[in-house]
Amino acid sequence: MSRLQGKVAVVTGSGSGIGQAIAERLAQEGADCVVDYRDHVEEAQATVDKIVAAGGKSVLVHADVSILADCTNLIEQAWQQLGSCDILVNNAGIEIGADFWDVTEKDFDAVMDVNFKGAFFLTQAFVRKLRDAKKPGRIINMSSVHEDMVFPHFSTYCASKGAMRMLMRDLSVELGPLGITVNNIAPGAIATPINTKLMADPKLLDPLLRNIPLGRLGKPEEVAGLAAFLASDDAAYVTGSTYVMDGGLMRNYKEQ
Ligand code: NAP
Repeated sequence: MSRLQGKVAVVTGSGSGIGQAIAERLAQEGADCVVDYRDHVEEAQATVDKIVAAGGKSVLVHADVSILADCTNLIEQAWQQLGSCDILVNNAGIEIGADFWDVTEKDFDAVMDVNFKGAFFLTQAFVRKLRDAKKPGRIINMSSVHEDMVFPHFSTYCASKGAMRMLMRDLSVELGPLGITVNNIAPGAIATPINTKLMADPKLLDPLLRNIPLGRLGKPEEVAGLAAFLASDDAAYVTGSTYVMDGGLMRNYKEQ
């Protein structure tokens, strides 16, 4: 497959989980890929090594997306080292659980700064360069079913993903004339390190699995397949939409 030949992609948080699977899949489809990490350099380097071993081109950049200067530098590095930046995957994300009345300013800022502010300003840096170069582009945000569905005791996470939904809708209109599309992927429960606690505790996992019509967690590779579609010409006429990938979880309303 070479749907993305000649394209350059930046995937934030691509040293683990969904981001790692996306970086690998975009590279398999021909894109050169910037792998970004914040804390775990070895895992991120392993992603780069895997891509290169498979014949792809990839570079490693450290960028904490909650820091504006890092966002600008991440896009600059893509242009300097790989010659362009056509696809941006805003994947980096964190969650911190707490009862609403116990949420601290520090935790609020941590979640909003990574999940929303980071995606906002990284997208701004991405768009400025494309606008100046008069090139089209693709923005794919890793949102969540919780851009829409309640998640009690995770109010900051829900607020950040809800903000991402509205930003995506707004930008689809503002960036359409520049030839830049923007869409969200809203995963349900995917088997990644963010869910380590959940996956290790049957008391939490079993009721969740009973709520998922397909009866299992999703795989990072499945999310990556959807991201590759949204990055490709097959999705040239797709913008302003959220693509839910949740095994049917959101449709599983039951009368009590
Ligand atoms: P994960 O394995 O914990 O990955 C999170 C990634 O984000 C890590 O690579 C981490 O990099 C990176 N990151 C965190 N803070 C960062 C920062 N300030 N700057 C740059 N990178 C940062 O979790 P995941 O499940 O793959 O999550 C990926 C995305 O999917 C998140 O946005 C999450 O909200 C979303 N999502 C996941 C699920 C799910 O069930 N797994 C469901 C819905 C949505 P370092 O390790 O280097 O810090």
